[in-house]
Formats: sequence, structure tokens, C-alpha cells
Amino acid sequence: MAIFDPLADKALRRETPTREELRSVLAASDDDTLDAVAAAFRVRLRYFGRHVKLNYLVNLKSGLCPEDCFYCSQRLGSDADIVKYTWLRPDETRAAVDSGIEGGAARVCLVASGRGPTDRDVARLGGTIEQIKADHPSVEVCACLGLLSEGQAERLRAAGVDAYNHNLNTSSERYGEICTTHDFTDRVDTVERAKHAGLSPCSGLIAGMGESDDDLIDALFSLRELAPDSVPVNFLIPFEGTPLAGHWDLTPQRCLRILCAARFVFPDAEVRLAGGREVHLRAMQPLALHVVNSIFLGDYLTSEGQPGAQDLQMIHDAGFVAGSADDASEATIDYRDLVKSRQRGAGTDQPPNA
Ligand code: SF4
Repeated sequence: MAIFDPLADKALRRETPTREELRSVLAASDDDTLDAVAAAFRVRLRYFGRHVKLNYLVNLKSGLCPEDCFYCSQRLGSDADIVKYTWLRPDETRAAVDSGIEGGAARVCLVASGRGPTDRDVARLGGTIEQIKADHPSVEVCACLGLLSEGQAERLRAAGVDAYNHNLNTSSERYGEICTTHDFTDRVDTVERAKHAGLSPCSGLIAGMGESDDDLIDALFSLRELAPDSVPVNFLIPFEGTPLAGHWDLTPQRCLRILCAARFVFPDAEVRLAGGREVHLRAMQPLALHVVNSIFLGDYLTSEGQPGAQDLQMIHDAGFVAGSADDASEATIDYRDLVKSRQRGAGTDQPPNA
């Protein structure tokens, strides 16, 4: 029997792994990592088949945030070279949403920088969301607007929002090391408010911020208590101009082990490979699709992702299907373009491709 088969069996029975079991995944050697992926794949296959859900991010308000989350390029005092703007107009938001949906997204994630929305922000956004839902009734709308105050989750739900994202990001114990302007409990409270209002809870983490295996396990267990429907796993994009610049602590194999641990804790929840996948998994992204069942299409909030068409091609080539069973979209790259006669190196006066 392969090493991680018992963990897969447990996940298939929807039993939570022990801390020791998760440690064994996170601390596995690179040689054993494929075994963890194979075990996680059994779980993924059972609950999600070969489907990959596509989500599309729209940054409604970029940068200029008064909060100081150390990992964030939009934070207070960030020198990161990012696009900054205040709220998009409704027509700009709808145009961005339309692009994502045309690209194959089943969910659009409307995100705004800031500590949390004002009641006026919620009211204004509500009108845009109603229009989006009227134009695209089958598309899920997820809002990610920061900490919610009393009644805001209910108003978002009434406007047609399906889900709310608010990540826990790391363990409660080390939260003070990645942010000083709000705390872990604030984050938990907002996820609870969203759930209470009938919004589908989306909450995940960021790896690669100097955390230990135990921190990751603590974060996963805290998330499990919230019972999120979707769990984005981000890998730190260490922007220059932020306090975590220079944190290149992850390897593709480490990322795969973190995703496997998330899958074993959340066997039947949507585990999403989120920000940082291109940066840290690089050529190993297709392997990660054997563990996760959801990705973001195209770009992130402040950084570029690989082109959306390449995402679709990657999913197709890895043997997966973008979208649900009913609306699976196919990659449209013309393979004939891949065959090019060599015009460099030996026999030519052009430098070789070496
Ligand atoms: S994560 Fe959100 S709250 Fe924190 S600095 Fe970035 S935009 Fe602001």
C-alpha cells in the first residue's frame, strides 16, 4: 500500500485527519510527494471527477488600503508597483465581469481593497450585482469586501450575492505577525456573519509567509471549524515594496504537499489553487490539478496570471475539464501553430536555441 492511502481512505469517509497525519504530509520528502498527490487525487476524483471550476477576479478598488496586511501589495505604505484606483464604475465592473464569463468563469469574485465596505458602498454595489445576475443568471457572484458590519451580509445576499470570501490566511497564533490593524477574531466574525446571512462561505489561507507546518495545520483546523464551501490556497506573491518581499520559501513540491493537506482536511469542499500558482508551482501546475478542483482564470488582483487561454489549455492537456459537466468549455488553441521549422542554430547564421 502506498504511504498516504490510509489518509485518502479517511478523507473518503469524510473523517478529519489528525495533526500527526497532516504533519506527515507536509513534512514528506520530495520523493514521497507524488504518493501524496496520488492519494489526494483519489479524493478529488470521488467528489469532483475531472472538473475544474473557473473563477474570475475583478478588483473593484485597487490599492490605497488603510490596513497593513504584510503580504498585500495594496497595504498601507506599500511601494509595490501596482495599478491603484478607487471604485470602478458599474459599467466598468460589468465589462470586466463579462470578460471573465466569456473566458469560461462559473464564478466572478468582486473584490475591493479596504478594511470593509461602508453601507453606501454596499448599496451602490448591490445595484451592480443585480444587473450582473440579470445578465448572467447562472453565474455565481462572490463578494470580497473585507470586514462586514451588522446587516451588510444580509444586504449583499438580498442583492443576489451567492458567496462571501474572507480568508483566515494563517494560524490565529501568528496572525499578529502578518497584520496589526485587525486580528484573527475579526476575520472569523466576518465569515460567521456571511454564513449567518446565507452566503456560501469561502475562506482559505496564504502559504509561504514564514509559517511552520504546525501553523499551517492550525490554520486548516480553524478553517475546518468554519466549514467553508470553498477554500482558496494562496501562495505568497512576494511583491517588492511590501514587508514580505524576498520571501521565496516555497518549492513546487512544498506547494503540492500543502494542497494535499488541504484536500485531506476538506475532502468534498472546493479547494482552489489561488494566487501565486504560476510563480511557485511553475511547470508543476498541471500536477496540482490532481488535488484541487478550482482555479482562478487569468489575472489576480494586482499581479498578472498566465493567459486565460493557457489556463484552459493546461486543464485540457492534464486530462481535466473546465467547468461543470453541463457547460464544459474546450481549449481552442490551433495545434498546427506549434509546429515550426527550425530557422536557427546549425546550418543557419542565427544563434542556437541553447
Ligand atoms: S489584504 Fe485587504 S485589508 Fe489587508 S491590506 Fe490588502 S486590501 Fe487591505
